[in-house]
Amino acid sequence: MQKRELLYEGKAKRVFLTDDKDLVISEFKDDLTAFNGEKRSSAVGKGALNNKISTELFKLLEKNGIKTHFVKMLDDKHMLHTRVDVILIEVIVRNIATGSLTRNLGIEDGRVLPFTLVEFDYKDDDLGDPKLNDQHCLILELVEHQDELDKLRRMARQVNDVLKPYFENIGLNLVDFKLEFGKDSQGNIILVDEISPDNCRFWDIKSGEKMDKDRFRQGLGGLKVAYEEVLNRILGKV
Ligand code: 5GP
Repeated sequence: MQKRELLYEGKAKRVFLTDDKDLVISEFKDDLTAFNGEKRSSAVGKGALNNKISTELFKLLEKNGIKTHFVKMLDDKHMLHTRVDVILIEVIVRNIATGSLTRNLGIEDGRVLPFTLVEFDYKDDDLGDPKLNDQHCLILELVEHQDELDKLRRMARQVNDVLKPYFENIGLNLVDFKLEFGKDSQGNIILVDEISPDNCRFWDIKSGEKMDKDRFRQGLGGLKVAYEEVLNRILGKV
């Protein structure tokens, strides 16, 4: 499958058309951004690591009955996937309090939440991805019906039910993560984007070490080593 015209360029990926109208190719970039694009850098090989990690996790989710846009990994940097209309809601799933939850509500960092929290953020960089409630989503026409919001929450919980124990088994706490969804040409809601240390927080169960993009956000260094470690654990190499 060949790349055709550039369809869209985001902060972490470029998306290209193909000869098949229902399929596109994502190229995973090495660029790193944080704080709504205010902090920028790059790490050679980061895109390939995220492509490989996402590939394994999409395969795992598909095996567990969760519909995703994944078709196949083409090479280190490229993934073939279904073309969708992206729903402009970032679905945030949290098992442990940290990040904006701690900042916004004063909940103690590292507190295990009494139940899994699912939140919606507006996918809009100009507005700084503000929090949304269901009524905001309907007023903004980000979805057509309340049922679709219920479905996003249900699917996000299903993803967490698969990934949380999976990561525990390889020595990582899945602290929180961001999911995106889209509608395919038949109108089905499917999981899209990527699932990687760029949009998940992983804390090593033994050491508490951060194994995700917080290494960049917080200037801790060692980002690539951490991403490689996540991939190696997924591949059963450690
Ligand atoms: P927080 O709201 O605490 O900043 O982020 C919660 C989780 O969602 C973290 O795992 C974070 O990586 C992810 N997340 C939230 N917003 C974004 C975003 O705009 N881009 C990416 N890559 N991840 C995000």
